Amino acid sequence: MAYLGNPGNTIAVLQKYHFNFQKKYGQNFLVDTHILEKIIQAADIQRDDFVLEIGPGIGTMTQYLCEYAGKVATVEIDKNLIPILADTLKEYDNAEIINEDILKMDLPSFVRQRNNNKPVKVVANLPYYITTPIVMGLLEQHAPIGSMTIMVQKEVADRMQSGPGSKDYGALSLAVQYYTKPEIVANVPPGCFMPRPKVGSAVIRLIRHKEPPVYTEDEALMFRLIRASFNQRRKTLANGLHNAGNLNYTKEQIQSAIDELGEPLNVRGERLTLQQFAELSNILKRISNE
Ligand code: SAM
Repeated sequence: MAYLGNPGNTIAVLQKYHFNFQKKYGQNFLVDTHILEKIIQAADIQRDDFVLEIGPGIGTMTQYLCEYAGKVATVEIDKNLIPILADTLKEYDNAEIINEDILKMDLPSFVRQRNNNKPVKVVANLPYYITTPIVMGLLEQHAPIGSMTIMVQKEVADRMQSGPGSKDYGALSLAVQYYTKPEIVANVPPGCFMPRPKVGSAVIRLIRHKEPPVYTEDEALMFRLIRASFNQRRKTLANGLHNAGNLNYTKEQIQSAIDELGEPLNVRGERLTLQQFAELSNILKRISNE
């Protein structure tokens, strides 16, 4: 069996199939066995695991996943890769290749069907042009997912981990930290990929919380408040909330909520912790019912 993590084997497969990289699909294939092993280790793949992989490319990481997991479903948008995957994965009877756009799949029902509603592990070297919609979709759709171990742009991994006071702090940080515990497990330089991306990368592991770390009575409202605060990053929190089309609070209600939160009226949204956004949502919900 020719493992693809080795650059020579990857080149041989690409030449055999006259494969042309499609920039629009964010195709940068991993060619570093050390990083591949690190990902598998960080994801803690066991024999009884069901793994969902996003974007297998020519199947480099899929081969590793199939060696360790019980079952691997791998979703690839590029139809030109499907016959290649059928070849590179032919020795594994635990791989399911799905030619789909991950953003169009109903993941909650897919994983429920395939794994009896038990949590699956997501492992992926993500296409960077759609990292945020993929991660937000996986988190917000409430699909039964235990953990995600994903390769992302280094800057995005930093955003997922950061807190108030950092320039990287934003709606993505808050969503990731509300649903999961993030931890960067490796920094990966451009030389580990073919072709080399222009940016640095990192592997980050997101372990889903059993219970969210803060209490909000209305999760959707909390996220509307978060988005409104960061949409207008340079405005005060009060202005950001007042200008948001999907929030209907008066200036007085907003001011009174910020006051009750114990913050000055000119506070910016980027100063607030996750705990404070949760409190703000509870206060505004109560005020609007009064
Ligand atoms: N896993 C492979 C590896 O590590 O070598 C390839 C990773 S490459 C960064 C991203 C892969 O995602 C590509 O194979 C690309 O075609 C695929 N992809 C891009 N957009 C996708 C989408 N919307 N749905 C599913 N796969 C997608």
